[in-house]
Amino acid sequence: MKLEVLGREAVLQRPEPSGRVICTACARYCRIGEGQIGLCGVRGVVNGRLRLFVYGRVITGHVDPIEKKPVTHYMPGSKIFSIATTGCNWLCAYCQNFDISQRRKVEGVEASPEQVVEMALKYKSDGIAYTYNEPSIFMEYAHDIGVLARRSGLINIFVTNGYWTPDSVKMAGEFLDCATVDFKGSGEKEFVRRYIGIPDAEPIFQTLLEIRDKTKIHLEITDLIVPEIGDSLEAARRLCRWVYENLGPETPIHFLRFHPDYKLLHLPWTPVETLERHCEIARQEGLQYVYIGNVPGHRLENTYCPGCGEVVVERHGYDILDWRLDEKNRCIKCGHGIPIVGRPRHRRVNGRSRFIPVIWD
Ligand code: SF4
Repeated sequence: MKLEVLGREAVLQRPEPSGRVICTACARYCRIGEGQIGLCGVRGVVNGRLRLFVYGRVITGHVDPIEKKPVTHYMPGSKIFSIATTGCNWLCAYCQNFDISQRRKVEGVEASPEQVVEMALKYKSDGIAYTYNEPSIFMEYAHDIGVLARRSGLINIFVTNGYWTPDSVKMAGEFLDCATVDFKGSGEKEFVRRYIGIPDAEPIFQTLLEIRDKTKIHLEITDLIVPEIGDSLEAARRLCRWVYENLGPETPIHFLRFHPDYKLLHLPWTPVETLERHCEIARQEGLQYVYIGNVPGHRLENTYCPGCGEVVVERHGYDILDWRLDEKNRCIKCGHGIPIVGRPRHRRVNGRSRFIPVIWD
């Protein structure tokens, strides 16, 4: 297919007098010449203007629980229609979705913003997640879906690496309700250079500050702990301290277990004790809502009340097993307010998961 008919002209672009165009969707700020394509593989210059080639094209669609993102403090138990396009602005050597994210081809089924929203409603979803690959690279498409979704009463969630720009934050502020921002290896410089292909994590911190100051987007932080190469406790402490000082002690943080994938098949799964040590450090730094992810049944999947130490939300994997908060989300034992937006929408029924469909794959 000819590039000039693929997708739609991008909004996030800045033409230069030289004839090149700077893409302002992500912090790579690719300078793209005529006929060239940016590093993500889905934005390129045609006839002097930047196009988003994957506008209107979805490579996968599933219905997931919101807890899978992971998001635990926003609309718990929600069913989330989750979509992705091809491409990514990062080159993670451990990516579990590499088949989608590292594919430098414009592929997938055609789906207008209206059709994506219709599909989400058809499957009785509570919202739409833009996930599996980095959504800021298709920000304009997500924006148009998200605006329509909101009109239909759906929430919008990004699962993102946070490697954005102020222009991207501004656009996201128009439709996004929640973002879970994924650090890897606690954002440690050597790790992100070698295994992600970015110079440093500084733009992620800038994005978080912009989101905090200029939007109402609910934020959660995740940190993928990769054994042997991305499990520094000092780096985790620096990250937790930054989150505490800049986003506040009530910001949820999730330490995720790595499993061998893509180019890092030789590494083991993250030992559970390593994740527990990271959680301990987060608590020492004053963070009050600290979770372990990808270890179903672990006690640190639960939410504990900072007031009395009791379990207030009991979870197993993506399921909510028990909810011990009153109608204003206060601990029923001591009355401490827990910063969770919303009440559970779905719970595990008779021990069976409520989420079944794989819609586009
Ligand atoms: S979104 Fe893609 S084209 Fe734009 S700056 Fe990032 S990697 Fe480059």
